[in-house]
Amino acid sequence: MSAREWLEKDFYAELGVSSDASADEIKKAYRKLARENHPDANPGNTKAENKFKAVSEAYGVLSDPEKRKQYDEARRLFGSGGFSGAGQGGGFGGFGGGGGAPGGFDLGDLFGAGGQGGGPGAGGIGDLFGGLFGGAGGRRGGGSATASRPKRGADIETEVRIDFAESVHGATVPLRLSSPATCTTCHGNGAKPGTTPRTCPTCSGGGMVTRNQGAFAFSEPCPDCRGRGTLIDDPCSECRGEGVSTRTRTLTVRIPPGVSDGQRIRLAGQGEPGRNGAGGGDLFVVVHVNAHPVFSRSGNDLTLTVPVTFPELTLGTTLTVPTLDSKVSLKVPAGTSSGRTLRVRGKGVGKKDGSSGDLLVTLQVAVPSKLDTKATEALQAYAEATADHDPRADLASLLGRAT
Ligand SMILES: [Zn+2]
Ligand SMILES: [Zn+2]
Repeated sequence: MSAREWLEKDFYAELGVSSDASADEIKKAYRKLARENHPDANPGNTKAENKFKAVSEAYGVLSDPEKRKQYDEARRLFGSGGFSGAGQGGGFGGFGGGGGAPGGFDLGDLFGAGGQGGGPGAGGIGDLFGGLFGGAGGRRGGGSATASRPKRGADIETEVRIDFAESVHGATVPLRLSSPATCTTCHGNGAKPGTTPRTCPTCSGGGMVTRNQGAFAFSEPCPDCRGRGTLIDDPCSECRGEGVSTRTRTLTVRIPPGVSDGQRIRLAGQGEPGRNGAGGGDLFVVVHVNAHPVFSRSGNDLTLTVPVTFPELTLGTTLTVPTLDSKVSLKVPAGTSSGRTLRVRGKGVGKKDGSSGDLLVTLQVAVPSKLDTKATEALQAYAEATADHDPRADLASLLGRAT
């Protein structure tokens, strides 16, 4: 059974009681339902058998003040059925020893046959909640149990800021990171150097113990080793026995060419270390790119606006335009319009396949704010010489009337 399924169950509804029912009301409701649906009284009735299983399961949790509190808390935190994450389900294991069950009915058989069970070590309710709260950042290492099963490390996120040119060409950036990491003093086993953790005698290293409670026997994490299966007599002073300590690492992050502002780069396994042999989480580096005073990006192309004169566009010319690294010659054909964009192939942003985008040069006429007498006369002469040409003729015809 997964944590999700577990939380999706409404144990109160199963027993037909309200969520603030007293222990007595819960007991009464359970006894009545268990009697009515007992397999002995309903041979071959699958519906009754399922109901019997469900009420037994509900009672197993709600009759235990501590488990009921955890269940209520979990429902309050995650909503009933709204939880996702701790996907490693805790089997409802160890319904063994049906010692005082009415009529000698063996619950162990029932649950075993249902394929839900397992011996000690399959993980019980306490185990489930241990994982749940541990995963939610709650009671890690606290009173509730931490299962000895492997647990992948958490992902972490950090940020770097690079220059525009670095984003185009790629960069190697050193990154200082303070985060939990495998303790270097004890190499993660939590024991003081020179000592080793010993097998927990209570659970013989299995991490689970079976606890009898009335007719039921619950498998739950060992209270002595908190489910780890080992005991540490001399905890490592660096990490206080956790095997994980906060340390500052310096990583070298290779930022690929063509990264865009806000992009996340994933460094697999460089997040928080896993526990009990599981892999580390991932490190995500969010890249911020400083704006460039001249160039901008449009996908894999670089864009640039270059001021030109009216004669340059009209008569044609060869311009020298900057690229990110150097400069190139750009031929402007005679009669080029202002605002036209010319393409310089391969001078853009590097792509994954090794090729590059282009540099897009937009030409824009720069109009002088002042002219001297000579220039003014020359322009007036030009205006007279071209008086026959009406640049708004097309506009007029498109509108179907004279302007
Ligand atoms: Zn340590
Ligand atoms: Zn133990």
